[in-house]
Amino acid sequence: MIEEAAKIIAHSRFLIAFTGAGVSAESGIPTFRGRGGLWENYRIEEVATPEAFRRDPNLVWAFYKMRMKIMKDAKPNNAHLVLAELEKMGILRAVITQNIDNLHKEAGNQHIVELHGDIYRVKCTRCDYMEDLLESGKLEDFLKEKNLPKCPECASLLRPDVVWFGEPLPQEALQKAFKLAERADVCLVVGTSAQVFPAAYVPYTVKDNGGSVIEVNTKESGITPIADVFLRGKAGEVMQSLLVKVKRYLESEKC
Ligand code: NAD
Ligand code: ZN
Repeated sequence: MIEEAAKIIAHSRFLIAFTGAGVSAESGIPTFRGRGGLWENYRIEEVATPEAFRRDPNLVWAFYKMRMKIMKDAKPNNAHLVLAELEKMGILRAVITQNIDNLHKEAGNQHIVELHGDIYRVKCTRCDYMEDLLESGKLEDFLKEKNLPKCPECASLLRPDVVWFGEPLPQEALQKAFKLAERADVCLVVGTSAQVFPAAYVPYTVKDNGGSVIEVNTKESGITPIADVFLRGKAGEVMQSLLVKVKRYLESEKC
C-alpha cells in the first residue's frame, strides 16, 4: 500500500495536499469530531456560528482564546515537516488546509491556501480593520485582556478571522484552491473527516479530472471511497515512512 502511494507521489506531475485537523492531532491540538474532539465539550451552535457571536460574544471569545492558547504552544509534527520537505524537494506544489493553526507555515511550507482562516487574525465586525496578532506581537496581551476586544479604528467589536458554520469561505482562497485542484494529478489527503463543504470538494475535483487520491487517516472518512490508496495510521508516523519510500523510489530511478 505505502509502496504504491510512494510510487504515485514520485511519479506525480503536480501534487497537492489537502489537510484537516487530524494532521495537527499529534501536535496536541484537539480535532473537532471523534474521541477527545472539541465538540464533545462544546456545542457547535453555541460557539462557532455568527448567531452564537451575536448572542454571546463573551462565550465565543472564551472558546477562541482557549484554542489560541493551545495552538500557540503547539509545534509542527512530523506530518507537517514531511509536507514542508516534499515542497522543498519540488514535488509538492501547494498545501490546501482547513486548519487555522498556522502549523504548515511554521513547518516551512511556502505555498499554503487557508480555506477556513487563521486563528491569530482578528477583524472588525464593522470596518475593514484587520490585525495579525503574531505579526503585531500583541498575542500575549490580547490573551490576558478580560474585556471584549474592540477595534482601534471604530471601537466596534473584533471577531476571529475564521470561517464559522453557515458562513461563505473567503473567495480568493477558494478560487486558488480549486485552480490548484484542477491542475493537480495527485491529491494527498491528510487527517480530515471531509464533512465540511465546499472544502471537501478539493479531492473530488482531482479525482474527477482523472487524478489519484492518496489518503492518510486513523480511520475511514468521506474521502475513503474515492481514495486510490488508503494509508491507515497516525499522520506523523505514516508521512515519515512515506517520505523515506518516496526518496528511495526516486534514488532507484536515478540509477
Ligand atoms: P475533523 O475533526 O472533522 O476530522 C479530523 C480527522 O482526522 C478525522 O477523520 C480523524 O479520523 C483524523 N485523525 C485524527 N487524528 C489523526 C492522526 N493522528 N493522524 C491522521 N488522522 C487523524 O476535522 P476536519 O476534517 O479538519 O474538519 C473540520 C474543521 O475543523 C475544519 O474546518 C477546521 O477548520 C477545523 N479544525 C481545525 C483545527 C486546527 O486548525 N488544527 C482543529 C480542530 C478543528
Ligand atoms: Zn472597526
